[in-house]
Amino acid sequence: MARVFLTAVLALLLAACATVEGTGRQQVILTSAGMENAQGASAYREVLSQEKPSNDAAMQAVVERVGRRLAAVAPDRGFEWEFTLLESDQVNAWCLPGGKVAIYTGILPYCENEAGLAAVMGHEIAHAIARHGGERMSQGILVAGTGVALDVYMRERGVEPTDRAMWMGAFALGSQVGVMLPFSRSHELEADYLGLVYMAKAGYDPAEAPRFWQRFASLSSGTPEFLSTHPDSGRRSDALSAEQDRAAALYQQAPQQYGLGETFPARYRKATP
Ligand SMILES: [Zn+2]
Repeated sequence: MARVFLTAVLALLLAACATVEGTGRQQVILTSAGMENAQGASAYREVLSQEKPSNDAAMQAVVERVGRRLAAVAPDRGFEWEFTLLESDQVNAWCLPGGKVAIYTGILPYCENEAGLAAVMGHEIAHAIARHGGERMSQGILVAGTGVALDVYMRERGVEPTDRAMWMGAFALGSQVGVMLPFSRSHELEADYLGLVYMAKAGYDPAEAPRFWQRFASLSSGTPEFLSTHPDSGRRSDALSAEQDRAAALYQQAPQQYGLGETFPARYRKATP
C-alpha cells in the first residue's frame, strides 16, 4: 500500500514539472491552471462583495493604467485581468491566479508615485504569472500525501501507535519548517526579481523598486499585512539594487519611458519622519 502511494507520488512529480518563465526555476505543480484561475476569480468576487471599492475615479484610473502596462509585458497566461482600488487603511496588495488584482489605498503612501505602485503591482502580478499559488497548493498536497504514505508504511510494519504518533509529529513539524517556509521565501525573491523586470519593460524607472522597500522599512510601524507576508524589507531592497544594471538596460529598451510617472496627491502621501 505504501509502495503504491510512493509510486503515485513519484509519477505525479515526473508529470508535473514546469519551468518558471524569466528565471528558469523548475517547479512541481499538481494543480491545473484552469482550476487555479477559477478559484482566483471566485475568491475575487467574494472579496469585492465585502470590501469597499475606492470612489476616487482618478486614482482607480492610475491603478488600471499601471496594471495594464505591466500585464502587457508579462508572459501571456490567458489571464482576464482586473484591477481594483479598495478604500482601506490596510497596507496591502495582491494578485490572485487568473490576474485579479487588488490594491488597498493604505499602501499608496509607501508607493508615492506610479513607479512605486508598479514595483508593488509587478511583484504581485509575478506571483500569479509564476503560479506560486498553485505551487504552494501542490506542496501541501505532496506533504499530506507523503504523510499518509508514512503512516500506512508504519502501520504495515507494526510500529507502535505511540511511536507512530511521534514520527508523524516530527514529520508535520519538519514539513512546516523545512519545506513550506523556505519555499515561500524563495517565492518572494523570485516575485521581486520578475516584478522588477516587468516594471522596467513597462517603462517605469526600476530604481524606484529598492526605494519603495526602503520607504516601507522605515515608515511602517506595527506589522501591516503586507509586512507580515513580505519580511526582510532591507535585504530585499539590497537584492533589488543588485539587479539594477540589468533592469536599467530593459528600461532603456522600453518603447516609452515614464520615469516615476505621476506623483500621488497629498492624501495618498505620508510625511517622512
Ligand atoms: Zn509577495
